[in-house]
Amino acid sequence: MTDTPGPDPAHLEALFNQAPCGYLVTDDGGRITAVNDTFVNWTGHSRSDLLGSTLQSLMPVGDQILYSTHCIPQLGITGAVSEIAVEIIGADGQRRAALLSASRSPASDEEPAAVRVVIFSAHERRMYEKELVAALRAAEEAEARRAEAEKELHRLALHDALTGLPNRAGLNVGLDQLPAGGTAGTRRLAVLFVDLDHFKAVNDSLGHAAGDELLISVAQRLTSLAAGSNSVARLSGDEFVVVGAFAGPTEATALAAGLLEVLRTPMQIEGLEIVTSASIGVAVAEDGGETLEDLIRRADIAMYRAKELGRSRWELHEPAETDPTVDRLRALGELRRGIREGALRVHYQPQIDLRTGRTRGVEALVRWQHPTRGLLPPSEFITMAEESGLVRPLGAWVLGETLKQADNWRRQGRPSSALEFAVNLSARQLNDPELVPMVEAGLRLRGIDPALLLLEITETALMADPAAALASLTALKNLGVGLAVDDFGTGYSSLTYLKKFPIDELKIDRSFINGLGSDSGDSAIVGSCIDLAHAVGIRAVAEGVETSGQVHMLKAMGCDLAQGYHFARPLPAGLLKEWLDANGGG
Ligand code: C2E
Ligand code: CA
Ligand code: CA
Repeated sequence: MTDTPGPDPAHLEALFNQAPCGYLVTDDGGRITAVNDTFVNWTGHSRSDLLGSTLQSLMPVGDQILYSTHCIPQLGITGAVSEIAVEIIGADGQRRAALLSASRSPASDEEPAAVRVVIFSAHERRMYEKELVAALRAAEEAEARRAEAEKELHRLALHDALTGLPNRAGLNVGLDQLPAGGTAGTRRLAVLFVDLDHFKAVNDSLGHAAGDELLISVAQRLTSLAAGSNSVARLSGDEFVVVGAFAGPTEATALAAGLLEVLRTPMQIEGLEIVTSASIGVAVAEDGGETLEDLIRRADIAMYRAKELGRSRWELHEPAETDPTVDRLRALGELRRGIREGALRVHYQPQIDLRTGRTRGVEALVRWQHPTRGLLPPSEFITMAEESGLVRPLGAWVLGETLKQADNWRRQGRPSSALEFAVNLSARQLNDPELVPMVEAGLRLRGIDPALLLLEITETALMADPAAALASLTALKNLGVGLAVDDFGTGYSSLTYLKKFPIDELKIDRSFINGLGSDSGDSAIVGSCIDLAHAVGIRAVAEGVETSGQVHMLKAMGCDLAQGYHFARPLPAGLLKEWLDANGGG
């Protein structure tokens, strides 16, 4: 020992002996030259037994070979081995799993080569392994969760969150395995479009939670019956579709009938027994490549028909059927273009004064010269024009055209300048604030006496909103034009209103004139209509007069005017002028 200050040898020995691992020093051959207390205690071998014996001798044969043929050469070459799993046999004969690391210091002038060996008991190793495994497992779980979340995200994008069914996007993905082009052998792709009846009522009366529960319940029922070879999806709200390959329409509609049946069974929703039903549209693919979208659209149309026919039923869409909405939109587009491009025509039907036999006036009746379908009567397009609002420009055109015609004839002095012109107004026009200014401007533009213009409004239109009608009629009346109630007898006007409205004429509906003479009920109605008109001080006009017998009776009943095929059909302006010349009109 020198005087040089260094670590206290006793302290070093204590560190060596009490280290929390086995610590040995061996020579190059593995012969133990030093061993610490931890190793002695752990193996149960005495220090004297250990010193001088080889480390290998403490191992089972397999590990002896491993240590001698792998570790010792390795220590000679690189100077270190680490974490070699071996077993140490204790004094009790039990094997103790261990983890061995070693480093070699080569021989020097003073000392021979020494190998310092650290042995961790298997217990610690297992702890370490456990942590490692736990960490590994946690990492794996995190990865699995991430993958699951990713899958869930994907699933959510393709699925409806409420029912767990595929949504529209998910349906397409799920159909990858279904026959392409709509057919597979003899089986054909079919879509059943299921729409709940009165779902909104459940939602509104019981609340959204109940509505959701109902939808989940419906989804389960549809799945229980239809799933398997078919796909069930929720498109939106209370719309579901079932898609599958079927032998034909019969098989598909049989499933529809089955679905209606399971849906009709009462459901328990929030403790209440709810009975629901659905309307189902069925579409089966034709041979030619119909897409899923085509089929869904066709099934949707059939579903609407099922609703119209009373709900809680299925309807099959025939491939030849056209889409009424598409047809309607096309027709609307054509009509709009027709109005703009001058395809409308006005025909004029004479109205005869029954006392004098002279033509009092004409009624303007619109027609549409359709590019492919020929001359169309108003029954083909007036309702559509009314529903779409196109009737305003249409009505404005008819009025303008009629006033222009009136002006032409007035200038020519033929027919009589006293001829009256009756023009029909729709309910939509009556509510149009522009109506009165438009009529006024038209009259002024053509220089027509307002008294020669008569506007006809149906009884139904007047009675839809009598108060509003009264205001419009009064404003029109103030212009000085005449007013007639059209199709009288088909609505339900009361005498009170008739008295209030500033009207000049009652036009008795054609259906009653039809039965004149043959149907005593009709004759009575016509008689009382005439009496009613006279009672409130206005004229009675008979529409649709087709026979001289009817003319006779109408005259006898005191009817003022008549109009109908018996006298003349509605005629284009040129032909009307000829007719008037021939029949002494004007
Ligand atoms: P409406 O106002 O009652 O017109 C009389 C309808 O009876 C006309 O049909 C006329 O052709 C038809 N008619 C006349 N005499 C006879 C007859 O003896 N026998 C039979 N069977 N029918 C006869 P049209 O022209 O087809 O018009 C149908 C309806 O369309 C009209 O009924 C009217 O409500 C509406 N309408 C016609 N033109 C217009 C218009 O410019 N605007 C509006 N809003 N509606 C119009
Ligand atoms: Ca009319
Ligand atoms: Ca009429």
